[in-house]
Amino acid sequence: MNIKLTLLPGDGIGPEVTAAAVKVLQLAADRFNFSVKTETCSFGGQSIDEYGVPLTEETLQKCLDSDSVFLGAVGGPKWEDLEQQRKPEAGLLKIRKELGLFANIRPAKIYQALIDSSTLKKEVLQDTDFIVLRELTGGIYFGNPRGYTLNKTDSAERHRQEKGWNTMVYTRKEVERIARRGFEMARGRRGKLTSVDKANVLDVSQFWREIVIELHKDYPQVELTHLYVDNAAMQIVREPSQFDVILTGNLFGDILSDIAGMITGSLGMLPSASIGKQHALYEPVHGSAPDIAGENKANPIAAIASMAMLLEHSFEMKKAADVINDAIERTLAQGYRTADIFSEGMRLAGTTEITERIMENFEEIFNEQALGVFTL
Ligand code: NAD
Repeated sequence: MNIKLTLLPGDGIGPEVTAAAVKVLQLAADRFNFSVKTETCSFGGQSIDEYGVPLTEETLQKCLDSDSVFLGAVGGPKWEDLEQQRKPEAGLLKIRKELGLFANIRPAKIYQALIDSSTLKKEVLQDTDFIVLRELTGGIYFGNPRGYTLNKTDSAERHRQEKGWNTMVYTRKEVERIARRGFEMARGRRGKLTSVDKANVLDVSQFWREIVIELHKDYPQVELTHLYVDNAAMQIVREPSQFDVILTGNLFGDILSDIAGMITGSLGMLPSASIGKQHALYEPVHGSAPDIAGENKANPIAAIASMAMLLEHSFEMKKAADVINDAIERTLAQGYRTADIFSEGMRLAGTTEITERIMENFEEIFNEQALGVFTL
């Protein structure tokens, strides 16, 4: 197999963590016998400096023509005062839209070595391993009508007329395509799908629920349950190990994926994938961290784990992805930590050292598996 990958390293720590992730990908390619051809394009603030826009048509075309896209991070103080449309973050929204990325996948998996640094108790976190699958291009963030009226004059009558409004709308097609993804993901994991909505209050949620129930007939091996979003938020914090795949809409997914991320680790540890019918984009959840950019302090684990997701979700190479994730786990178990996850008694390491340790552990685990030794 030959993977054609477009790299958008972006700004701040984006290029550092992207370089780390590409090194690990190249190693996986060598060992698992596939090849990777990467092309690096300017994106975000860097692209604004060079071309005046965060995403050029040429870069977009390269992304559309490749098998997959990997993004570092964008943004920084240098571009903060630009008008909204010209900001680096506008490039993010545009690329997600142009690639038709309707599903966002955020895993919430606990690294054993970091279990004590969570804000939750170890007993609560034990065995946590689930995915939040969020609909990304519909719902209240995109629905019309939307707007607000605000009268500047200070009169009671005028204040009574002021209001703000958005519309939560989902079409059958939008619900079906994300729900099918959810059933398929659950089928490939532990077979449990939890659909999260607010069907006790919202008609659009009732509609969502009825379609999910209808599709369940095509996936009889998957156990389907429904939760209201308020209960889901409580359950994620109370007993996260009960979940396998959480399927939900744009607004609820935005909030639940952040709760899920935070219980399992720091920003530097969280990978993500955004998937469409033909295209996919993988990126760490964190931003460009301008406060530590260029200092070899960035935690590359979120980016490296995002590369593992790329192998699993775009190229069905779960074995290679598992070796990468095991190598991360073993590196943490050996006590190596970047500053963001450092604690007393651990070994402080920079971006390059952590990456090297992960690569060494990858080699070791790969060789153990080739010899039939299964230890972590
Ligand atoms: P941030 O995620 O960049 O940083 C928040 C804090 O976490 C900082 O203290 C930072 O040092 C730390 N941090 C983040 N990632 C880290 C890593 N890998 N290793 C070690 N420490 C890490 O969020 P912010 O400070 O709110 O935003 C900075 C810029 O990034 C802004 O311009 C923002 O718009 C942009 N941003 C971009 C994305 C993206 O590209 N997807 C996401 C969020 C924010």
